[in-house]
Amino acid sequence: MSKVLVKIRSSREPTEEQKSKLLPFLNERYGEEIVFEYIRDRKLVGGFTMEVGNDFYDYSREARLEQLTRKWEQTVKKASFSDDLIPLLREDLDNWVPKTLAEQIGIVDTVGDGIATVTGLKEAEYGEILIFEGGVRGMVQNLSREGLGCVLFGDDSSVTEGSRVRRTGRASGVPVSEKMLGRVVDALGYAIDVGDEIKPEKYMPIEAQAPGILERQSVHEPMETGLLCIDSMFPIGRGQRELIIGDRQTGKTAVAMDTILNQKGKNVVCIYVAIGQKASSVAQLARSLKDKGAMDYTIIVCASASESAPMQYIAPYSGCAIGEYFMNKGRHVLRVYDDLSKHAVAYRALSLLLERSPGREAYPGDVFYLHSRLLERSACLSDKNGGGSMTALPIVETQAGDVSAYIPTNIISITDGQIFLESSLFFSGQRPAVNVGLSVSRVGGAAQTKAMKKAAGSLRLELAQYREMEVFTQFSSDLDDATQRQIAYGQGLMRLLRQERYSPISHHGQVVILVTAMAKGFVGVPLDDIPEVAKGLCEYFEHRAPHICSRLDVEGDMDERMKSDIIRIAEEYLADHRESEDADS
Ligand code: ATP
Ligand code: MG
Repeated sequence: MSKVLVKIRSSREPTEEQKSKLLPFLNERYGEEIVFEYIRDRKLVGGFTMEVGNDFYDYSREARLEQLTRKWEQTVKKASFSDDLIPLLREDLDNWVPKTLAEQIGIVDTVGDGIATVTGLKEAEYGEILIFEGGVRGMVQNLSREGLGCVLFGDDSSVTEGSRVRRTGRASGVPVSEKMLGRVVDALGYAIDVGDEIKPEKYMPIEAQAPGILERQSVHEPMETGLLCIDSMFPIGRGQRELIIGDRQTGKTAVAMDTILNQKGKNVVCIYVAIGQKASSVAQLARSLKDKGAMDYTIIVCASASESAPMQYIAPYSGCAIGEYFMNKGRHVLRVYDDLSKHAVAYRALSLLLERSPGREAYPGDVFYLHSRLLERSACLSDKNGGGSMTALPIVETQAGDVSAYIPTNIISITDGQIFLESSLFFSGQRPAVNVGLSVSRVGGAAQTKAMKKAAGSLRLELAQYREMEVFTQFSSDLDDATQRQIAYGQGLMRLLRQERYSPISHHGQVVILVTAMAKGFVGVPLDDIPEVAKGLCEYFEHRAPHICSRLDVEGDMDERMKSDIIRIAEEYLADHRESEDADS
């Protein structure tokens, strides 16, 4: 029979008597022939650790203290509010027998670029968290006969070849709590802004199954963006996934941010996940949200460009897990992933370092699954399950407007529609630069209020007609009156859809503007004045006809009589406006 080597580490060499006490246990587990090896470790005062092959037994003072702390924590959790805790804790201490914790340990083989390969941990599972010597955590991503591939969360400089790794037996989770609202956290859920440490209420698994079909109900409530061009034509419902796609610097983040601002007072929790962005842009965004009073209901999860690929890879999943915590409590959640193209790039880097085979554009084969399992977790839960919802606004950056590239097509096929932002529109001053022809929302219509549906009516169609006519008449100079009128009307509509940043329009405001516009109310107003006149119109209605505004907001419907009232009151305002213009000139 072969000999079994038992390595004992402690500050003092164990006596023969101490060794003989260990023998029955060791013989039972590992056989008769035990050979002891002693290694001096001055840190292990008042305890020892023992290694047998890949098994690790921790009998150090820290480990025992941790056990006792855990036991006490459980007692405190179980105790009712009126219990006197001191006797309970004392009882625990009197009856406490420390357990020898058996663990498997592995050895780091190679390390670099946030990836470590580990040998020896035969039973580790995919997605399990490992703890490296020095405290760095890692997640198992590759399992092979030769060893484990592990991504590291945090600074890998303390991990060296040959250092030891412990299993935890747990899948990765993020700490969650109500206190996270208003804070900026990293991809692991720990606060990185000024302020106190966030005490976790519990941990949510980073990778979780999406709610099943029976747990859901269909999307039925609007998630208003406050942007006229989106709410009228491409409405988003609570629980929907709507992609925001466009080239760089076309106002993608601005659309998401305006949507967050518009959730003020609507009891929606917003989670903004920044992936691979400049830390300064994220700081600026946080400051703007704070200035506008939107940070109270917002959480920013930030894995900036300087973070390692593994941190950027898990950031959206952490954001999603935090969202699930609120959704399961019956709350409505809005998540923004800014942006998933950088997420895919981080995943590609990580996969290549893990030596997975590259596929199209060097992305690994499972890059579709990477995003589909993330976005599938958006849901509108049934009333039986609390009725919470989680809406996702993923953002994707295209190169030169190419929506048929690999990652954009993947994500377009996973989402329920896309808002396509175009550089040429953006530079011509049409902001938000929504391309009306290429944008679509596949379920939002079901969530749009009846009033909005009636008001928006044929807006899309009329804009399409205008675009076609504009192209058609580009080169001809003499146009007949009807065509000229049609073009002027279309131009007016396009102007109406321009909207400054940070100025969301309320639901009743949008309905009033649309009803007026479809009744050709803005025809004759100089193009440059249109946005201002529309704004004035909303304010006029709030003073002159507050009953109409509140009925629109509460009932969400509009009958023919109300529609004609709106047109009549709008006429009043527009006539006043024309008069004052004439007087000025
Ligand atoms: P990136 O690709 O760098 O992430 P992006 O597509 O997210 O860019 P934003 O950062 O949102 O674009 O916007 C780019 C610029 O356009 C910003 O300076 C912003 O202030 C401006 N902008 C965006 N939307 C509007 C708007 N509706 N009105 C006026 N300016 C706008
Ligand atoms: Mg952006």
